[in-house]
Amino acid sequence: MANLLISGVCNLRCPYCFAGHHLAEYRRRADSPFIALDIFEDRLDFLDRSGINEIRLIGGEPTLHPQFPEIIRRAAQRGKHIVVFSHGLMPERAAASLEALPVGRCTVLVNTNAARSPDGPSPKEHARRLAVLRRLGARAFPGFNIYAPDCSLDFLLPLVLETGCRKTVRLGLAAPTAGGDNVYLHPKQYPFVGAKIVRFARQAARSGIRVEFDCGFVRCMFSEADLDTLREAGADVGWRCSPVLDIDVTGQAVHCFPLANLAALPLDHAGTAGALRDELAARMQPYRAAGIYKTCSTCRCKQNGECTGGCLAATMRRFRHEPIRIVVPQAETRAPADASDVIMA
Ligand code: SF4
Ligand code: SF4
Repeated sequence: MANLLISGVCNLRCPYCFAGHHLAEYRRRADSPFIALDIFEDRLDFLDRSGINEIRLIGGEPTLHPQFPEIIRRAAQRGKHIVVFSHGLMPERAAASLEALPVGRCTVLVNTNAARSPDGPSPKEHARRLAVLRRLGARAFPGFNIYAPDCSLDFLLPLVLETGCRKTVRLGLAAPTAGGDNVYLHPKQYPFVGAKIVRFARQAARSGIRVEFDCGFVRCMFSEADLDTLREAGADVGWRCSPVLDIDVTGQAVHCFPLANLAALPLDHAGTAGALRDELAARMQPYRAAGIYKTCSTCRCKQNGECTGGCLAATMRRFRHEPIRIVVPQAETRAPADASDVIMA
């Protein structure tokens, strides 16, 4: 797996965005915020020699690339399964090029809580997103980045059922940047959010909708009974934190955006994704002794390899001692794994 950055530009301002700083840096270094077609061909060569049949396009917002249809055409010509991570408010030319792909060759993950305003998507943004999901049908499905414990997931099920998109919802936990300058979900809030996710997955399963987890989820967010419920609901549950490989237009490969400042490796002309991932994993290894909670270092789940100890970027934040203030609704509170300094409302 490798994500290819093709656009350093985004026209929204999500409060939880963890790519903003990295993209600003990148725009300073690069001649153009968009990948050139000859460089894109190099990336396709890289995927070919790495034995990767899937091309994952990221940004910024990838569909804003002025030559997006040509990028899609070239990727399809190489026989790649095309995956696009989009905020969904895409130009007509981009929607048309994705709509033209066979259903089995294209996956568009539409981030439903990307927005121009910190208050969240406007009715107009929501309506445009709905129209794109309807148009792309089974090629697309919604995602939601959880960055506050009081978020509501309820709108996602009618959205899937009304648009006829793929019956899947991808949930992510917003991760902190190295500077902590974005809004993110603090690990102390995970168990509370975990309970909400279990209720949502149960409800989703009744409508034949499957819930998928992005990276950063941890085992102790859920009780044994919760896990049974998630399994029964057919949810794709996993405790992942490993180098995804985000590759920017200048040819720098990083573990993921939140860890971009820790290690970046240049793509070379013979290297493969596997070799880069191994090297980045080795560089991160010293940081893996700890986890997002104090209890991780002695946790059996970590020792037996079941749980990674959570998002490494969140672990790094744990060692920056700053007072935190978390407001948790009293009625629904469950004890987090390390609740020593949660401040109740
Ligand atoms: S390793 Fe840490 S995050 Fe994972 S289950 Fe154990 S205490 Fe929880
Ligand atoms: S550090 Fe790990 S869990 Fe956190 S965003 Fe990166 S890959 Fe995901």
